[in-house]
Amino acid sequence: MHDLVKLKAPSIARVGDSLALVSTPALLLDLDAFEFNLCNMAALAKKNGLALRPHAKAHKSSTISRAQIALGAVGICCQKLSEAYPFVRAGIDNIHISNEFVGADKVAMAVELAGLIQLSICVDHVAQVDAIGKAASAAGVTIIVMPEVDVGHGRCGVDSNEALAALIDRIAAYPGLQFGGLQAYNGGIQHLATWEQRRLEAARSADRTAQYIQFLEARGVLSPVVSGAGTGTVEFDVASGVYTEMQPGSYIFLDGHYGSNEWAGEYMPQHGLFILSTIMSTAKPHKAVCDVGLKGVAVDSGLPRVRAGDYEDKLRYVSANDEHGILQVAADDMRDHLGNRVMLVPGHCDPTCNLHDQFICFRGDVVEAIWEIDARGLSH
Ligand code: PLP
Ligand code: MN
Repeated sequence: MHDLVKLKAPSIARVGDSLALVSTPALLLDLDAFEFNLCNMAALAKKNGLALRPHAKAHKSSTISRAQIALGAVGICCQKLSEAYPFVRAGIDNIHISNEFVGADKVAMAVELAGLIQLSICVDHVAQVDAIGKAASAAGVTIIVMPEVDVGHGRCGVDSNEALAALIDRIAAYPGLQFGGLQAYNGGIQHLATWEQRRLEAARSADRTAQYIQFLEARGVLSPVVSGAGTGTVEFDVASGVYTEMQPGSYIFLDGHYGSNEWAGEYMPQHGLFILSTIMSTAKPHKAVCDVGLKGVAVDSGLPRVRAGDYEDKLRYVSANDEHGILQVAADDMRDHLGNRVMLVPGHCDPTCNLHDQFICFRGDVVEAIWEIDARGLSH
């Protein structure tokens, strides 16, 4: 008789197995490409004298953050307060929440985290400063506050000198708050298709950022940190002389959307993230059906692509159902292909990683490690 309390689905993979034995769908990380990307970004930061604070929302794995810190990263970014908890539990003691938040539940998390680690946060309204300032001061903790300036994205962030000055004055009113510098990230230009477009827009954002820095300097306020730069513009941002810190996330993976950017400079990451799928039905002519659908891959930035070199010429991923991926077939008959594996490049890494429990890390054809995605979910 089965002891039902202990009943558990078997694990997707075992270290030492060949990829052929990995159960699908599986989120695969190619360690050679990952390590190349990791070292490349660390070297870019070092060469240009900037701090690297990689964004953890891309991977949500404390194992990856620790690898980034081991290569010199000063800490990490998280996008949500709850997301920070697994990283703190794993010993990461310097986290920037690169996003605004509102509400007593969120303020309580910020105060708790600030009692454990060096925490910085973003604001773009004096009411946020008041809420966090009162709570931090009452609890006897220090929270570093980085006003966000809108440098072209049009999402969050103040867009006038007066609004920035009001935030800085209010921060100074609370003993529990410390002005940490500026958040100046432009997410809207990271995926501009051509290298030249990104270069021009990155320069424009850097100019806007510089104007805010100069405005503050004229009032006698120095910005200890100026944080910006994502995977698509980092090569320009490091050379601008404006930022002191970069916060790219996706560079470790190069997802399909970023892969379709034109890369013309010296800096280009490699595809490292894949979804391993199995063709599990060939019952219909001109169609193959694989086991990766919406629950295995995010499609907000386009459908996944079949990895170059595999089935590339024969199959095209054309539609995602919950648990089915529809592959259009160039060859006439796919019946003999039942059970074959197809490697997919996801369009967008962040929401794709958030769908999985583990990275199955491989080198060549062998599973070398399995890393938990310990911050998956956790979006409050
Ligand atoms: N910083 C902020 C505030 C972001 O929203 C993002 C991503 O959306 C990043 C950094 C990292 O960007 P990427 O993953 O494109 O490098
Ligand atoms: Mn993203």
